[in-house]
Amino acid sequence: MSNNVVGVDMGGTKILSAVIDAAGNILSTAKVSTNADEGTSIVIDRIADSIQKAISKSGVNEASIEAIGIGAPGPLDPATGVVIFAPNLGWRDVPLKAELEARVGIPTFVDNDVNVGTLGEHVFGAGQGVENVVGIFVGTGIGGGIILQGELFHGASKTAGEIGHIIVKAGGPKCGCGTRGCLEALASRTAMAKQFRKAILKKGKKSVISKLTDGDLRTIRSGVLAKAIQANDKLTLKIFKKVTKYLGVGIGSIVNFLNPEMIILGGGVVEALDDTFLDNIRTAAKKYALPNTLDGVQIVRAELGDNSGILGAAALARQRSGAG
Ligand SMILES: [Zn+2]
Repeated sequence: MSNNVVGVDMGGTKILSAVIDAAGNILSTAKVSTNADEGTSIVIDRIADSIQKAISKSGVNEASIEAIGIGAPGPLDPATGVVIFAPNLGWRDVPLKAELEARVGIPTFVDNDVNVGTLGEHVFGAGQGVENVVGIFVGTGIGGGIILQGELFHGASKTAGEIGHIIVKAGGPKCGCGTRGCLEALASRTAMAKQFRKAILKKGKKSVISKLTDGDLRTIRSGVLAKAIQANDKLTLKIFKKVTKYLGVGIGSIVNFLNPEMIILGGGVVEALDDTFLDNIRTAAKKYALPNTLDGVQIVRAELGDNSGILGAAALARQRSGAG
């Protein structure tokens, strides 16, 4: 098959590249460390290197690669492929598209990682065939992507979909963005770790989380949260109840405002949740949405897991290059 693309998922700790055929089959993958502290140009060299590795592992002819798609962190300009600001990489105004095209010689298209994840779910995952989709990914932060009439919607300053920063509790806890009461400050993994620290360290509450983290409550991995839920840990269940409520409040607002056919929930925290909690989210959303606005809206789990980034980047490469 001649019509292949490379999808790249660029994160703060690792870069994953994959060769993907027209049917969405992953033919090969190559993973390298990001090591952002080594400097921008070395990181871009490493991205190019991971792309080359994925191509040679796949066994396909390099000439069959029509385009490269990249999901990168931070606000960026999808038209020019310039990453405007990525604090976890220490990047400001980095012309990622131009730099990679110079190194690899294949047309390259860049978009925000959460947008790309949402596009992946739309083309290959839970949102197949659905025209209007909102993706919400809950991890250390909360990101969102919007697909309208089958296309990513970027907005005037290319920042549409910042769902983590809609206000769900005015005057609530402080958010990394400087405001108070954002969804991310109440329902992200970072926010949950803060709630655990307050309950365990300040109020002396007992929780299996202390043992599962060896007492290190600075960050709590999603796998640990999943184990605590399975163990029916009282404090964890209480915190998750609050988290799902605030996710529901946020979703209620999104449904009132945009009324998409589908909301796809993904990310480590959602993967840790069992279906009871998904029902909690639906119930809360119903409470905060106007009567009947939720009737045609499906609230579902993401299906692609960690592959949403590379598959979405492949879909981006195809859409933007016209490779079909
Ligand atoms: Zn915020």
